[in-house]
Amino acid sequence: MIRVADTGLLDVGEVRRHVLERCTPPAPRRVPLDDATGLVLAEAVVAEEDVPSFANSAVDGYAVRAADVAAAPVTLRVIDEVAAGACSDKTLAVGEAIRIMTGAPMPAGADASVMVEDTERLEAGASVLVRRAVNAGDAVRAVGDDVATGTKLFDPGTLVTPAVAGVLASINVRNPLVVPRAKVAVLSTGDELIDDGSELQPGQIRESNKTMLLGLVRQAGADSVDLGIVRDDEAALEAVLRDAVESCDAVVTSGGVSMGDYDVVKAVLSRIADMRWMQIAIKPAKPFAFGLLANSAGSNIPVFGLPGNPVSSLVSFELFARPALRQMMGDPTVDRPAVLAVAAAPLPRRPDGKTHYVRVAGEFGPDGRYHVRSVGGQGSHQLAATATATALAVVPDGDGIDEGATVTALLLSVV
Ligand code: AMP
Ligand code: MG
Repeated sequence: MIRVADTGLLDVGEVRRHVLERCTPPAPRRVPLDDATGLVLAEAVVAEEDVPSFANSAVDGYAVRAADVAAAPVTLRVIDEVAAGACSDKTLAVGEAIRIMTGAPMPAGADASVMVEDTERLEAGASVLVRRAVNAGDAVRAVGDDVATGTKLFDPGTLVTPAVAGVLASINVRNPLVVPRAKVAVLSTGDELIDDGSELQPGQIRESNKTMLLGLVRQAGADSVDLGIVRDDEAALEAVLRDAVESCDAVVTSGGVSMGDYDVVKAVLSRIADMRWMQIAIKPAKPFAFGLLANSAGSNIPVFGLPGNPVSSLVSFELFARPALRQMMGDPTVDRPAVLAVAAAPLPRRPDGKTHYVRVAGEFGPDGRYHVRSVGGQGSHQLAATATATALAVVPDGDGIDEGATVTALLLSVV
């Protein structure tokens, strides 16, 4: 891998490529349509039905012959009534209308609908005054004018949004072929961590990474599995990891990957998995480990060893784990959206050979551009400040970004 000159650290793009090359989607699977939203289609979808499958009225009103109402206002004789789901067996003759509801099939002989607002019911419904002329085809939904049989609607790689799921339902695709949702185990490591609500003893801190990472995993569209806090104990950690790869598609750990004496994650994974321990030319999140741990079935399960500092954990997840998980779930666009943002205030820094991912809060201004400013505390332990960020500003090595200058911002949330 390429090292960044003068630092001996790895290039972030290279690390990303290294990870992505090793995180491939499993075999696609058919799932009930109700479970497909949020997943990615694994095959093209070609419509085998027309939508609508019959010409129907777009309005509540009267089915008419356009020629009959060309000289509106005119009075027509009402010969039938047809609701959605029903059919009229009558055929319209000159001077006749049929009361029709939205979605009901157009009766034979009718070529337009007049909306009820443009009519007046006469003789207790036996006739109708049509006040406005319409053209043939007005307020009629033609066969196939939403979806025509034979049309390719979606390519493989399409994300099943709620609307896409609706379209699939409309053409009777009940079990789409999708890339399955990844199941991702998350664990944190460290003797100092507690999460039982008890009073902090000297040296203890409350666990926060796992809670955050479980949420980030779900936000990435995967299922999360909470493996708890594992103490700095090699045997315990090995047992948890070996168990995790039997039932999960990926494992995310936090803590224990840097240079500390008690970095047991490093000790264990170095022994049981094919890992790469990296120091990357970025700030925060310099230490990162990634590798594959084989399970008993012979599958290689990706393991992401994220740093323990909470902000580093988040940034590391965003830069490496999230794209990898998206790729494992078949998404061709694995990255968060990036915008060229405007620095609403300076984003100063010193040259150190690293790319800085500065946590910023941004908003779209009246000029349509995204304006960002630092959230304040940029320490890798200052999760509270980071929690207010809406984006990561990618500040290249150098002296920072001047006010008013542009900076690439990776959007973490757009609501
Ligand atoms: P480590 O990478 O294990 O050396 O941890 C680096 C820093 O992150 C230390 O200050 C740890 O206490 C802290 N840390 C590690 N894991 C967590 C966690 N799950 N929640 C909150 N802080 C953590
Ligand atoms: Mg630790």
